Amino acid sequence: MQEILTQLDGKKVLITGGAGFIGSNLCEVLIENGAEVACLDNFATGHKYNLDAIISHPNFTLIEGDIRDITTCHQAVSNVDYVLHQAALGSVPRSIKDPATTNEVNVGGFLNMLIASKDKGIKRFVYAASSSTYGDSVGLPKQEDIIGKPLSPYAITKYVNELYADVFHKTYGIDCIGLRYFNVFGRKQDPNGAYAAVIPKFTKLLMNHESPVMNGDGTYSRDFTYIDNVIQMNIRAMLTQDKEAMNTVYNVAYGERTDLNELVAVLKTELGQFDEAITTVEVKYGSKRAGDVPHSLASIDKAKSRLGYDPQYSIKDGLKEAMSWYWKNLK
Ligand code: NAD
Repeated sequence: MQEILTQLDGKKVLITGGAGFIGSNLCEVLIENGAEVACLDNFATGHKYNLDAIISHPNFTLIEGDIRDITTCHQAVSNVDYVLHQAALGSVPRSIKDPATTNEVNVGGFLNMLIASKDKGIKRFVYAASSSTYGDSVGLPKQEDIIGKPLSPYAITKYVNELYADVFHKTYGIDCIGLRYFNVFGRKQDPNGAYAAVIPKFTKLLMNHESPVMNGDGTYSRDFTYIDNVIQMNIRAMLTQDKEAMNTVYNVAYGERTDLNELVAVLKTELGQFDEAITTVEVKYGSKRAGDVPHSLASIDKAKSRLGYDPQYSIKDGLKEAMSWYWKNLK
């Protein structure tokens, strides 16, 4: 990992969605390692406070703007060589409630960013794809070339991203790499709002001694992936010089499956070290949620063999880090 971090020095990078969970973590690590970083964000779901540590850094520029505006996208790519495109409206339930806006941002905005990147001749376009693209395929572990039909409007948008990236490479020669993230978690993931992800949402409830409510019986499982593994993949995808490794998609995961009941048990144990009463908070069970896939587990062989991916954090190690971060920062 250290050897790739040293290569970041002096690189000029645009991070869209850089005020969000994944984007702001990327901004910080790139700045810490000598890159010049521009962040484009409209704060739809991200927060300025996520950028507190770097906002005044001389190598950091914040561009407040919307990827649905092509002029903004052109301006944002004007001084960079690489794009790490994270901006999107996440959440399956949000996309079911409002498919039009999800499509405008995730497809329209994505296309704008590709057009702007192609016009500027940027070196590499790395983008956040999603495990939701596996849709109704039942086989486990998920391998990149076997996908099913999408199960939500969100999943469609993320699959369309992959199709556009592929066509833009074939048509205009722009180098793209898609990263299919599997349930990412860690510091700075937002615990608030109707569409909060399960780990920060349950963490906040447990810290308040309130019962988390499971969708279903808690046997649905996910390949929960710690943020630092995701950062590593973004950097590897951005910097690889191997032509064979480009213009394709990669699973970004740890390669282990944890069901929700197991997850809550670990959260309670970890948080219980700070406040023993948390270990006694009971879980409640509710109905299943539309658009959810029952199980998710990634094969990470392709990422390992083509990009040298070497995930440093197991789910347990990642949860330990995340819980101590939430304990310090949420109270
Ligand atoms: P996030 O909501 O924290 O970050 C998304 C960022 O994009 C936010 O800062 C938001 O303000 C910004 N944004 C939204 N609409 C915008 C617009 N129109 N113009 C400019 N900026 C806009 O979410 P995240 O978890 O950090 O996700 C980052 C990316 O990873 C997204 O593309 C998401 O679909 C993808 N992804 C995330 C996960 C996960 O587990 N977190 C899993 C699969 C894929």
